[in-house]
Amino acid sequence: MTDNLPRRLAGKTAIVTGSTSGIGLGIAERLAKAGANVMLNGFGDAGAIKEIEIRLAADHGVKVSYHGADMSKPADIAALAAVTKANFGGVDIIVNNAGIQHVSPIEDFPVEKWDAILAINLSSAFHLTRETFADMKARKWGRIINVASAHALVASPFKSAYVAAKHGVVGLTKTIALEGAEHGVTCNAICPGYVLTPLVEKQIPDTARARGISEEAVVRDVLLAAQATKQFVTTAQLGALAAFLCTDDAAQITGTALPMDGGWTAH
Ligand code: NAD
Repeated sequence: MTDNLPRRLAGKTAIVTGSTSGIGLGIAERLAKAGANVMLNGFGDAGAIKEIEIRLAADHGVKVSYHGADMSKPADIAALAAVTKANFGGVDIIVNNAGIQHVSPIEDFPVEKWDAILAINLSSAFHLTRETFADMKARKWGRIINVASAHALVASPFKSAYVAAKHGVVGLTKTIALEGAEHGVTCNAICPGYVLTPLVEKQIPDTARARGISEEAVVRDVLLAAQATKQFVTTAQLGALAAFLCTDDAAQITGTALPMDGGWTAH
C-alpha cells in the first residue's frame, strides 16, 4: 500500500506505545520507512532498545527517540506526550499498541491481572489520546490507531479481561472518531488475528494448562483453529496497514474496527 510512496509521512511524528517488541516494533519500523519520526516506548533491555533506536534512525533517515513510560500510569503517559512534543515539536500520529495478556478461568482470574489489563490495554489509549488530541485538532490533522484484536469482535474463553478491554477499545475508537471527524483527525482500531510475537508465545503454556492439552495442540487446535488461512498474521503486514491508515488516502476511514485476521471473524 505505502510501498510505492515510501516517504508519505515525512515531517510527521508518531508515538508508538509498546514498540520495543512484536507488533508495535513492526508498526514503528513501517512508519519510519514512510518517513515519520518515531517515539518508541515499552519495556526491555536498555542496550537492545538503544540498538532499535539507532537502527531505525539509520535505516530510514528519521529521528527516533525512546521514552520508558509505564502505560498503566497516567502520569507517565502525560510525560511521554510532553517529552515527545518538546523533542519533536508536536505529535501527529499515536499508535496505542502496548498490551498484555493473562489466560485463566474467570473464577481464578487474579484481580490484579484484571486491573493491569484494563489499565494497559484500554485506559492507556484514553490517556494518550487525551494528552495529544487538542493539538491534533488545532493542526487539523491527526491519526490515532488503536491496536485492538480479533478479540475486540469475538470472545474466547479464559480471556475475560483481555476480551473486555479490547471490546472497550472499539467503543473508545468510535467515540474519538466522531470527536475528530470535522477536525482532520481519524481514529481506527486494527484487529489482528494471531501474530507470533512474545505475547502469544507466552500464553501457549498457560492455555495448554487451562485446557489440559499439549502446547502443539494449542497452536493447531486453539490459536489457528479459527484463523481460516491457518497462517499467523505478520508484524510487517500490520505495519503496512497502520502506515496506510496514516496517509491522506485513508482520510475517510474513521471509526472502524479493521480485522487482519486470516478470516477468523468471517466464521
Ligand atoms: P509483545 O509482548 O511482543 O509486545 C508488547 C509491547 O508492549 C512490548 O513492547 C512491551 O514492552 C510493551 N508493554 C507491556 N506492558 C507495558 C506497559 N505497562 N507500559 C509500556 N509498555 C508496555 O506483544 P504483541 O503481540 O506485539 O502485542 C501488541 C499489541 O497487539 C497488544 O495490544 C496485543 O493485545 C495486540 N494483539 C496481539 C496479537 C498477537 O497475536 N500477538 C493479536 C491481536 C492483538
